[in-house]
Amino acid sequence: VKDPHGLAARAAVPRHDFVPEALHSSAYDDHPLPIGSGQTISQPYIVALMTELLEIGPEDRVLEIGTGSGYQAAILSHLAAEVYSVERRPELAEQARSVLSRRHHHNVQVICGDGTLGLPEHAPYDAIVVTAGGPKIPHVLLEQLAIGGRLLCPVGDRHAQRLIKMVRTEDGYRELPGIDCVFVPLVGEEGWPDAGV
Ligand code: SAH
Repeated sequence: VKDPHGLAARAAVPRHDFVPEALHSSAYDDHPLPIGSGQTISQPYIVALMTELLEIGPEDRVLEIGTGSGYQAAILSHLAAEVYSVERRPELAEQARSVLSRRHHHNVQVICGDGTLGLPEHAPYDAIVVTAGGPKIPHVLLEQLAIGGRLLCPVGDRHAQRLIKMVRTEDGYRELPGIDCVFVPLVGEEGWPDAGV
């Protein structure tokens, strides 16, 4: 991972602001960390890789599914024009809104809801990133992608996935080979059923 824009964006966002205070000393270790509600902030390497694979340009409108801590959204906000981030858990959405506004990421909007249904209000998106793992790519997300737009989604079972990249072309979609990854479950209408967790 060596894209200079992505590196600069990551350098500008202190990860410790996005993890609970008790974990500040491990904020820069290269693994995921708990952020409350049984959810995690992704491993820095994965955030870097996803940021690079999304190929964000300064005019881009980006959709993230799974705001979590807000860390990935903060990095995207440095690279894109507008970022919309959907989180299903109200307490996490609230927490992320507060840190993002405290850190002046004013081009990020956090929406509470089921991101597997996408966010038609602001579509189409130049880039869509799903940061939770589902059984398949939610179809509406593909439909909400602009021509030339990139989508990243971890697809697999609840414990292990492959990070799939899709690019929308003039006449369809192109799938690029993914890498193995582990994300928390994508829970929703086009994801895993809510098992009360
Ligand atoms: N991008 C985050 C990683 C968060 S972990 C970060 O930088 O910290 C994944 C998040 O996806 C969790 O907060 C989880 O609650 C959320 N999530 C799971 N299913 C979702 C859905 N259908 N819609 C929106 N958010 C969802």
